[in-house]
Amino acid sequence: MSLSRLVLATSNPGKVSELAAMLEGRYIVDSRPADLAETIEDADTLELNAVKKATEVAVHTRQTSLADDSGLFVDALDGEPGVYTARYAGPQCSPDDNINKMLRELDGVDTSERTATFRTVIAVVGAEGQTLLAEGSVAGLISTERRGAKGFGYDPIFVPDEADGLTFAEMTPEAKRQISHRARALDAMLSQLMSADF
Ligand code: IMP
Repeated sequence: MSLSRLVLATSNPGKVSELAAMLEGRYIVDSRPADLAETIEDADTLELNAVKKATEVAVHTRQTSLADDSGLFVDALDGEPGVYTARYAGPQCSPDDNINKMLRELDGVDTSERTATFRTVIAVVGAEGQTLLAEGSVAGLISTERRGAKGFGYDPIFVPDEADGLTFAEMTPEAKRQISHRARALDAMLSQLMSADF
């Protein structure tokens, strides 16, 4: 029997809405159980964090779970914040704090040197521990100021190469889904799921 239900291992509303829109019509998507404590993302790779998140939810729910772990790799910062992107400005920081820190760190850096890559790794873990991994990325630039009000996280300062100078936060959700790191990782995962034995 083919897989028809997935439990999302994220409670980040921005990610949930993107993943749910991309999975609509293919899978019945369940939310992360509210009674399950947040996963401590203490691994030093996106892959290990994604597997850890999906495994905790799959064990708890006895259902197949899908987790995404993402990072922003900024060339002028030697690839930082990378796997530590969520807590770049400190343990309890807000998305605004993260953006402020990044704009400060890149203050005075020329546009041509502000290149960056968003990477997502998606893990799907089955009730019996079967594990699949897929990756997606999008190259772009870090802008010098915030632009746009859509999306979440670093969207107001990330200008993908393929979007005519718009930030992710200035694009419609549909346009972001055409090129985003998360959409690319999910497409790669959906291809694998079609032939997976869950
Ligand atoms: P994590 O995958 O939940 O660890 O998220 C890593 C960090 O990247 C968080 O600060 C997210 O807000 C940010 N992030 C992940 N995906 C996106 C995106 O599509 N746009 C903007 N920020 C993102």
